[in-house]
Amino acid sequence: MNTIMSDTIERVKCLIIGSGPAGYTAAIYAARANMAPVLYQGEQPGGQLTTTNDVENFPGYPDGITGPEMMIQLQKQAERFGTDVRHGWITKVDFSGDIHKVWINGEKEMHADTIIISTGASAKYLGLPSEQKYLELGGGVSACAVCDGFFYRNQETVIVGAGDSACEEAHYLSKLCKKVTMLVRRDEFRASKIMAARVQNTENIEILFNTETEEVLGDGQVVTGVRVKNNISGDVHDIPATGFFVAIGHKPNTDIFKDYLDLDETGYIINAVPGTSKTNVEGVFVSGDAADHVYRQAITAAGTGCMAALDAERYLAAKDSSFEVATSTYN
Ligand code: NDP
Repeated sequence: MNTIMSDTIERVKCLIIGSGPAGYTAAIYAARANMAPVLYQGEQPGGQLTTTNDVENFPGYPDGITGPEMMIQLQKQAERFGTDVRHGWITKVDFSGDIHKVWINGEKEMHADTIIISTGASAKYLGLPSEQKYLELGGGVSACAVCDGFFYRNQETVIVGAGDSACEEAHYLSKLCKKVTMLVRRDEFRASKIMAARVQNTENIEILFNTETEEVLGDGQVVTGVRVKNNISGDVHDIPATGFFVAIGHKPNTDIFKDYLDLDETGYIINAVPGTSKTNVEGVFVSGDAADHVYRQAITAAGTGCMAALDAERYLAAKDSSFEVATSTYN
């Protein structure tokens, strides 16, 4: 039995789950620290950035870079130091023992001394065919005002949502755009009073309550407007806009961990020790948006990926005196 297990179960020092900026940064650090990391890319290799056109706020790219290109470069950098990057996604975990078990694609079993979770979060969309069409075309639909707002300078935009994120993003857009129309589906905000007041007191933000999106309008390439309906009166009208922002929440990709890790009420992994990447399970670390509902930026994800690799390395070193901490990590 043991022989069969050792033939079929792969054991690694460090398994990284997810391939956004957090996962690849963790991989770069872990590989340079002699941890021979294996990284599984997940269902959306490259993560959320692959749905972004230009990234202009990641330090080090004065001319900007496309999201997909940045992810290719991060993958190359992780591979250069020996990260084993693999296709496939984790379908089940068992974090009950000292050795952490994971199953890939429902079949292959792997055992890892340390796990770095970088599974990210997915922005929620309305699900309208017209919204999805212009999202896929990169033609004016976005779920991140901080990432994409700059492309709509002096233009008119529409944003859907009534939570703190929608208010924050609407306010951010108002500083760049000529006009921002905010669509709120009920007759009140979900956001905190202070955040709601801020948008209500901003001159170039118009708030339409009881208003839902019927269709994102466009010329086949880019967004030209939004058809909205008042859900009380039934009135339908079109709003001219070149950008359609969706801010109706995110869903962290953490379902498979819920039996073992402490999650908050929306599913974000809770850091067991604030200011570190530690979870409530020894040897399991988290980085990126899977634990971050506040900042959600590529650069903050990369920063926490670095933290997770350093925490994992120190954990291994403390556990096993034969594992040498690579000094290059701290250069
Ligand atoms: P929330 O879940 O708080 O809000 C989602 C909003 O989207 C709600 O207003 C909801 O409407 C609306 N919505 C959902 N589905 C649809 C739909 N199909 N059509 C139209 N509208 C829809 O998510 P947030 O991302 O805003 O916030 C998540 C958490 O992060 C919250 O706890 C928030 O407080 C926190 N946060 C804090 C910030 C800060 O303090 N600076 C900044 C950003 C977030 P309805 O109200 O009708 O349900």
